[in-house]
Amino acid sequence: MENYIGIDIGGTGIKGIILTAENKRLAKACVPSCSQAGSEKVCEQIFTLIDSLLLHSNLSSNDITRIGMGIPGHWDKEKRVLSHCSNLPLSNIPFVEKIEKKYGIEVITANDANAATLGEYILGAGRGTTNMLFVTVSTGIGAGAIINGKLFSGSSGNALELGHITIEQNGLPCSCGNRGCAELYASGAAIAKAAEYMYFTLGDDITAEKVFQAAAAGNSKACFIIRDAMESLGACLSVAAQLFDPELIVVGGGLTKAGPQVIDAIKIGIKTRCAKPIAEHLSIEPAQLGEDAGVYGAALLAKNK
Ligand SMILES: [Zn+2]
Repeated sequence: MENYIGIDIGGTGIKGIILTAENKRLAKACVPSCSQAGSEKVCEQIFTLIDSLLLHSNLSSNDITRIGMGIPGHWDKEKRVLSHCSNLPLSNIPFVEKIEKKYGIEVITANDANAATLGEYILGAGRGTTNMLFVTVSTGIGAGAIINGKLFSGSSGNALELGHITIEQNGLPCSCGNRGCAELYASGAAIAKAAEYMYFTLGDDITAEKVFQAAAAGNSKACFIIRDAMESLGACLSVAAQLFDPELIVVGGGLTKAGPQVIDAIKIGIKTRCAKPIAEHLSIEPAQLGEDAGVYGAALLAKNK
């Protein structure tokens, strides 16, 4: 009997599941990532999660074929560490090796957005397709691609850094070192920041959600900010569509909760900016697995190795 553990490492929580070879979920668990407490504590939390999954499914480490992990940040394939991780103290920490040593199980990793792409492709909105893109728009923008039925991760494992493609040549400086990145104009954080710049009176804690609500209530500044951000998002996604000519783009992430605007903006961007044969063959659909796409994708990564 083959079983696979999927782990999705996030800035605030670490999620895990055990999946059988038939894609049946045997257990699920979630622990806080305790990112403020340092790297040792984060590793301990991963162990706690794995122990809890094994306990709840009545399995031992011998019953697990492989572990798949969706990880945030830039992966160094040779050293098997994150070379850059902004939300967690895991940069240059050999946590994958530590897990393998402790449990004697091989660990496979993928960028968290790439893992979510695999989840949506096999168990969500992408079922039955051959070429699809997945994009998640929340605080930042993440993406992944399925090409000819396979997850495309690129030569370094970091493909589809869509949030950091240049959409303003001389635009704002980005934490990645580039200027004018899509994420600075089209993400939840960009919307909140634009509202702050425009001296919005939405209270102290301005969020993208509040700006969407103000726009829905007819606030003209909020409407302007949302329209601008959605145009940037449409432009960003049209670049990806032109490059990959997919049959489907699946859209997920916190911003999609604001209503149909996000998907509509991408549809308009595709229609106005893409070559006609590409636009005509392309559907845009909302994600189906919600926040669980990453953890299912991580388990499927382990299974499909
Ligand atoms: Zn950037």
